[in-house]
Amino acid sequence: MFDITIIGGGVIGCLIGRELSRYRVKTLLIEKDSDIANGTTKANSAIVHAGFDAKPGTLKGKFNVEGNALYDRVCGELSVPFKRNGSMVLAFSESELPELYNLEKRGRQNGVPGLELISGDEARRREPHLAKEVVEALYAPTGGIVSPWDLAIAAAENAIDNGMEMSLDTEVTGIERIPDGYRLITTGTAIESRIVINCAGLHSDRIHNMVATPAFKIIPRRGEYFVFDRSEGNHVSHTIFQCPTPNGKGVLISPSVHGNLLVGPNAEAVQDAEHTETTAAGLASVREAASKSSPDVAYSAVITSFAGLRATPDTGDFIIGEVKEAPGFIDVAGIESPGLTAAPAIAIHVTELVRERLGNPAANPEFTPTRRPMVHFSHLPAEAKSAWIQKDPRFGRIVCRCESITEGEIVDAIHRNAGARTVDGVKRRLRPGMGRCQGGFCGPRVVEILARELNIPMTEVRKDRPASVLLTGVTKSASEAVIA
Ligand SMILES: Cc1cc2nc3c(=O)[nH]c(=O)nc-3n(C[C@H](O)[C@H](O)[C@H](O)COP(=O)(O)OP(=O)(O)OC[C@H]3O[C@@H](n4cnc5c(N)ncnc54)[C@H](O)[C@@H]3O)c2cc1C
Repeated sequence: MFDITIIGGGVIGCLIGRELSRYRVKTLLIEKDSDIANGTTKANSAIVHAGFDAKPGTLKGKFNVEGNALYDRVCGELSVPFKRNGSMVLAFSESELPELYNLEKRGRQNGVPGLELISGDEARRREPHLAKEVVEALYAPTGGIVSPWDLAIAAAENAIDNGMEMSLDTEVTGIERIPDGYRLITTGTAIESRIVINCAGLHSDRIHNMVATPAFKIIPRRGEYFVFDRSEGNHVSHTIFQCPTPNGKGVLISPSVHGNLLVGPNAEAVQDAEHTETTAAGLASVREAASKSSPDVAYSAVITSFAGLRATPDTGDFIIGEVKEAPGFIDVAGIESPGLTAAPAIAIHVTELVRERLGNPAANPEFTPTRRPMVHFSHLPAEAKSAWIQKDPRFGRIVCRCESITEGEIVDAIHRNAGARTVDGVKRRLRPGMGRCQGGFCGPRVVEILARELNIPMTEVRKDRPASVLLTGVTKSASEAVIA
C-alpha cells in the first residue's frame, strides 16, 4: 500500500511529488498518457506571472506571488531554463487607464514587488516595437519566462531519485473506499493508497466525482498560439500583455526561454477536454489582437501553431484541500493560469496538508534537491564537446540540424529515470522537432533511435499517448523498391 498516490503528471503533480520526496513516505505518481507534462503543462504561455491579476484574498493571488518568489531556487536546483525578463501591461487609450491602475493597486495588495507605472514613451524606449498608441504601461520586474515541461520533467526525475515511484500509461477509471484509504481502479493494476491527491487537470472534476458528490465543474477553454523562428526571438525582450478582459489576460507577445517568440492566446470554451487543434479563425483573431501591441511582428517567420486547454473551474478560484466527505482525498483542481507560476507554492502547501494527515513523517535523510543535468551538447565549449565525443561517439552524430541535437543526447534522454518513451517526449526534453523544419528531417531518426533503445518495433513507437502510433507497417522493402 502506498502512503500517497498522485493522479496526474503535470507540473502540479510532479512538483508535489518532488516536495513529498523530502519525507519518508511511499509515493506513487500515476499518469494516463505515455509521458509526464503531456496535458496543459505542455501548451501554455510559459510565463511566470508577477501576480497583479488575481483578486486579493484568492488562492490564485496568494500562490501566484509565493510561487513566483520560489522560481529562482527551484529552477536553479533542477537546472531548468528560467529568466526574469520582466513584463509590461499596455493601455492604449485614456479609457483603459482605470483598469491599468486597478491592476497596479491589486498587485500592491497581493504583495508584488517593484511595480512601476511608466509612460507610453518610456515603454517604447524599453521596447522599440511597441505601437505608437500605447499611452501608459504597468511594468513588473518580477515577471519571468520558463520552460514548463522541463520543470515538470525535472521535478519528476528529482522526485524519483529521492524515492518516488511513477506509473505511465495508467488511467484511473474508478476509486473505491477501503478501510485504510482508497483503491484506485486503473487501466493497469489496482492501486491502494492511504492518501490520494487529485491533480488530474482538465479531468479533475471527474476524479473528484469518483469519491464525493459533485462540487465543481471544469470548463475547458482553448487558447491558440503562434510560435516564431528564433530570427524573431528578440522582437520584444519583456512579456507584453494588454489590459485583461473578463475572458482572461488577453493576447501576449513574449520571448521564450529557448529564444523563440510566442504570440497568443485567445480564449474559447470548448466541449471536449482533448480539443487541442488550432483553427484558422482562432489564429486570425490572435494575430489581429497582437497587432494592437506591436504592428510589425513578421508572421512570415511563424514555424508552428498550437493550442492549450485551460482547466477553468466554475468556482472562479483554485480548488485546493481535503474533500470533507472523503478523508485523505485531496483536490488540487481548477488550476488554470497562473497555475504554472503558483505550482511550487501549491506543492509546499499540499505537502503540509499531507504531512499533517500522516502525523508528521520523518525527513528523508537521502533527499537531494538537485538532478543530474541534461547534456545540451550545442551549449558546450569546444573542449567539452570533444571530451563527450571521445567518451561516446554518438555525441558526434547530429540528428536534429535545426537545434543541433546529437544522438548521444537523445540516448541519454531516453535512459534517464523518467526517460522519454515517445517522439514528443524526446522533443520536449531536447527540442528535436521544435526548430524550423518541425521534425521533417529528424523525426524518422528519432523514431528509429526510440525503437532501438527501447527494444521495440518502430510500429510501436508512439507520438505521445497509448494509441498514438506513427507507423502502421512496412509498405515495401528497399529491394522491392529497387525492382519496382
Ligand atoms: C492557454 C493557456 C495559457 C496558460 N498560460 C500560463 C502562464 O503563462 N503562466 C501560468 O502560470 N499558467 C499558465 N497557464 C496555466 C498552466 O498551464 C496550468 O495551471 C498548469 O499547466 C496546470 O498543470 P496541472 O498539472 O494541473 O495540469 P496538467 O498539465 O493538465 O496535468 C494533469 C495530468 O493529469 C493527467 N490525467 C488526467 N486524468 C487522468 C486519469 N484519469 N488518470 C491518470 N492521469 C490523468 C493528464 O493526462 C495530465 O497529464 C496557462 C494555461 C493555458 C491552457
